[in-house]
Formats: sequence, structure tokens, C-alpha cells
Amino acid sequence: MENYHQPAVLFNFDNTYSRLPKQFYKKVSPSKVPEPKLIKLNEDLVEELGLDKNNLNSQNGVDALSGNRIPYGADPLAMAYAGHQFGSWVPELGDGRALLLGEIISPGGIRHDIQLKGSGPTPFSRMGDGKAPLGPILREYIISESMHSLGIPTTRALSAIVTGETIIREIPMPGAILTRISKSHVRIGTFEYFFARNDTGNLRSLADYIINRHYPKALESSNPYRQLLFLVTMKQAELVAKWMLFGFIHGVMNTDNMQIAGETIDYGPCAFLDTYDPKKVFSSIDHAGRYSFENQPIIAHWNLACFAQSIFSLLDPSKDSAHKQAKEIIDMFPTIYQEKLNSGILQKLGLSIEIHDDIKLAKDLLHIMAEGKADFTLTFRRLCEVSSTSSELDGPVRLLFDTPKLFDKWAKGWRKRLLLENISEQERKRKMEAINPEFIPRNHIVNEAIQNALDQDFNLFELILRICKQPFKSQPEYRKFMNPPLTHQEIHQTFCGT
Ligand code: AMP
Ligand code: MG
Repeated sequence: MENYHQPAVLFNFDNTYSRLPKQFYKKVSPSKVPEPKLIKLNEDLVEELGLDKNNLNSQNGVDALSGNRIPYGADPLAMAYAGHQFGSWVPELGDGRALLLGEIISPGGIRHDIQLKGSGPTPFSRMGDGKAPLGPILREYIISESMHSLGIPTTRALSAIVTGETIIREIPMPGAILTRISKSHVRIGTFEYFFARNDTGNLRSLADYIINRHYPKALESSNPYRQLLFLVTMKQAELVAKWMLFGFIHGVMNTDNMQIAGETIDYGPCAFLDTYDPKKVFSSIDHAGRYSFENQPIIAHWNLACFAQSIFSLLDPSKDSAHKQAKEIIDMFPTIYQEKLNSGILQKLGLSIEIHDDIKLAKDLLHIMAEGKADFTLTFRRLCEVSSTSSELDGPVRLLFDTPKLFDKWAKGWRKRLLLENISEQERKRKMEAINPEFIPRNHIVNEAIQNALDQDFNLFELILRICKQPFKSQPEYRKFMNPPLTHQEIHQTFCGT
């Protein structure tokens, strides 16, 4: 007999993490919230994941996305992990304000975690309330979706909910919940957790789990764990090179915020550069500039050393040999990273192959951008328009520099180099525009959208999402969102939003 009261199945869960040994997590249910309202459902992502939009939009959907009802097949848990925060060892962190509902497999065959962020306390919450204020949830939604559109590997935002609850921070704030989609939420800190407990059995189970889930090719190697270390190193190098090529500052590259599958995760005080300043720090808590823009590759390397150290025991029974093997792999990071960065920056400049002085040309540009306080994103975008035969179209890019004469000198060299490219002017422009965005979610605009949303006006939030979905497309009607902030609009500090 049909049961008309049975809610529709929202997710075809196929959970694997919850079947790992009990030390990997604490099973815990989300807290109930008084009056959940769906602010945003990411319909593109809903489709990509093979989910049902109408079901997720229904009361049943909102109940599940707010944690008020545990959807059929979910097995909610808070993941255990440790981490190095600002270089200091913290033996236990874990999901203090997030819950893994379970995993689904998309029509493309990829397994994804579905996680609620801000869904109430867990055994890892320590002094925190396990909740998230609306501002940081909208910030993560906008920035992670923009990162995806820019082609930077990232966790995604499936939905944002306001809970109807007021949560206490410096001032009372509306509570919110993000449903986050990720290839998985295992971090370097997850490995460190078992390493610190001398729990080699579970460490091995974790490594096997990750190899099967993310790096199955490692199984073809004579030493899959060494191959895992190499593949994770490659992925981190690729990721951080992309951050650098788009002017993105993560802001809290603690080892618990570095995901093993190589996606950008944990959008706290992150921000995109406006003016190019390699030493730029936005985060209000990063007093020493550990996670400044230019330090990101160095920190990624440091984090990988923590990862390597945590799996020493799997690499080789001999400590010395394990150390040597790990070092050999980790030492490859600077070269792999530099190669990725170099090839990316040459492409940004419209150069298809590297000729002897090209890297110097690129470095010189960055140098004069810093000196002339040029806008990072617009400099590259406006270079697309510049003619390779004369300076007549230099005006718009030149204007970005406080020191236009330095630009003139540099542009001469660049033009000379462009003559060696066997490509039409139109084709070069097309290729450059396809990788140099016109739009990034600029800090001052994101903040304005959040302020409006706190006054119940979500129009700007929606508009930024629409514009940043096509970051490479020319959208002259949205010039305001393309331009850097005026002096009085500049945001100097960003916050973790815990
Ligand atoms: P994050 O800075 O977001 O990477 O978080 C670092 C650690 O603090 C993680 O273990 C989080 O789960 C925990 N945490 C952050 N905010 C809260 C909160 N509001 N309540 C409980 N735990 C939190
Ligand atoms: Mg974190």
C-alpha cells in the first residue's frame, strides 16, 4: 500500500566514511532550528549532482537542509581531525560546527560529501556553539561558487538557509546553515590525528580509504603510499598555483584546512587581491603575515611536510629510509609549483611557449604592478585589449599604474615578444580573455551584499552570483562590479567568521 506521508527521498546516500572505525568520527545529529528559510538553492549544482530541485525546494527539502529532519539514508557524523594552526600543534580539532550527512555519487560517477555547516554543537565544539552567522555563510557561498566558475578546484555551495535563530557573536546575528559539497572532507589534519595517537592501524585504513576514493592510480605503483604522497603534492602545487594566478588569498592555511583531494576548503578570511601587493594579508588574526599572498606556496610546502611526517610509518619500515623517501617527494614541490605557475602566467600574457627571457618578463610585470599599485585582475584583463604593434590602445591598462612610465617601458618588451607568437591579434585576445577574468568577487562588493542581506535584501547577493558565474565574459553593464574599490570602499581586514 502506498504511504502518502512518506517524504520524498532527497539524496541517494551511499555512505562509506561512516563505516570506517569509530575513532574516525562521532555520530551526532544536527540541532533543530526554529524557523528555517531557504535563501538560495544552487540549481546548477542540483542538476550536476542529479538531485531533484522540486524536492529540495519543498518543506521536506528545507527540513533536511536545515538539520530539522535527518534525510532518509543519512548517517550524520562529526569528523575527527587535528591540525597545525598558525604553525602550532593542536592534537584535537574535528568538526565543531559541521556535520557530514553522507555521500552521494553524481551522474558523472564522482562521490561527493554532503555536509551541513553551522548545524549545531558536536563533541568537537569545545567552547563554540556549533553555529554559523549569516554573513560568513553568504561569503562562503559567493566565493566558493566564484572559484568554481574561475576553474579553481573548490568545495561547492548547494544551499544556504537562515535558521530563524539569533546567535551571539560580538553583536547578535542571524544564524545560517550552508550545505557544502566536497570531493571529501579529509584533511592533512585527519592524517595528523592518527599519527599523533600512534594509531598506525587507523592511519593505514585512512590512507587506503583515500587512495581508493581519490587516487586509485596509486594502487598501480610498487609503493601506493609513496605515490599517494606524490599525487597529493602535485594536487597542492596545482591548487596553490591557481590561487596565485587569480590573486586569491586563502587566509587560514592551517593543516586542518588543507583538503587531501586538492580542493580549496574553508572560506574564512579569504579574499581576492585588488591592488597587487605580494605581502598582502587580509585576515584579522594573521598578525605575523604567515598566510600572506606570497607565502602561500611556502606554507603549502610546509603543510605537505606535515602530511609526509604523518605517513612516515606507511612509507617504509625503516625510519631513515621513510624519511629519505618522503624528503625526495616533498622536495619536488617547489619545482612542480614553479612549473605550474610559470606556464599559467605565460598564458595570462598571451605567450604560448616559453622563450628564454619570458619568465623575467612576467616577473618584471608583477614587480611594476606592485610598485605602481596596479589592480591585479584588471591589469591582466586590460592587457588582452592592448595592440601588439602599437601603444595606441594602452590607455586603459596604463591608467591602472601610479607609475605609467614603468608600464610603457615594460609594454615595449612585451610587444616585441608578442611578435614571435604565430597568432592573429583576435585569436590572442580571445585566448587571453578566456583565462583572465573580468570579474572576481571583490571584497567591498561581497561585504555590501552581506550588509544588505542582514537587512533582508538579497538582491545584491543574487546579482554577484549571476555576474561571477561568467567571470571571463565581458559584461559592460556591470562595470561597477568589475572596478576596484575607491579609497573609502576599501576593506582592509577580513574575519574568520566563527
Ligand atoms: P576553522 O577556523 O573554521 O577552520 O575552524 C577551526 C576549528 O574550530 C574547527 O575544529 C572548527 O570546527 C572549530 N569551530 C569554528 N567555529 C566554531 C563554532 N562556532 N563552534 C564550534 N566549533 C567551531
Ligand atoms: Mg577549518
